[in-house]
Amino acid sequence: MAHHDTDLAIIGAGPAGLFAAYYAGFRGLRVAVVDSLPELGGQVTAMYPEKLIFDVAGFPQIKGRDLVANLVAQAAPSAPVTSKTETKPEAKPVDLSKADEKLSSLLGGKK
Ligand SMILES: Cc1cc2nc3c(=O)[nH]c(=O)nc-3n(C[C@H](O)[C@H](O)[C@H](O)COP(=O)(O)OP(=O)(O)OC[C@H]3O[C@@H](n4cnc5c(N)ncnc54)[C@H](O)[C@@H]3O)c2cc1C
Repeated sequence: MAHHDTDLAIIGAGPAGLFAAYYAGFRGLRVAVVDSLPELGGQVTAMYPEKLIFDVAGFPQIKGRDLVANLVAQAAPSAPVTSKTETKPEAKPVDLSKADEKLSSLLGGKK
């Protein structure tokens, strides 16, 4: 398991994680971005790198892979350490009764 000395670990290198890496670096934090996939870009890279996207502010249209390249370039000054997780995330069934209990305790007994 890789060890990185950082202030913030961001799980997921999709568009949200990449922009979070930029912004955290902009605010002076050392960032590590971790993903279980080998490439950056989340769903965009994995599912539709060649598709044109029409709903990104400031771009009338942009190809998926170009959007990811821009996000990576934007995050680069923050010098995030990127790392691939060594195990895949497990999908576990959620016990909603326990989730409710936990939520209730977080809310100080209120539901
Ligand atoms: C075919 C298709 C077309 C789309 N077209 C559009 C469009 O035109 N316009 C639009 O606005 N949206 C579109 N979307 C939706 C858009 O891609 C998503 O809203 C966007 O990717 C979400 O970004 P994200 O960073 O939140 O998550 P994701 O892109 O899902 O990235 C999350 C990343 O986190 C990683 N991850 C998750 N859990 C873990 C873990 N436990 N450990 C390690 N890594 C983890 C995943 O591997 C993934 O790389 C489309 C989606 C698909 C599938």
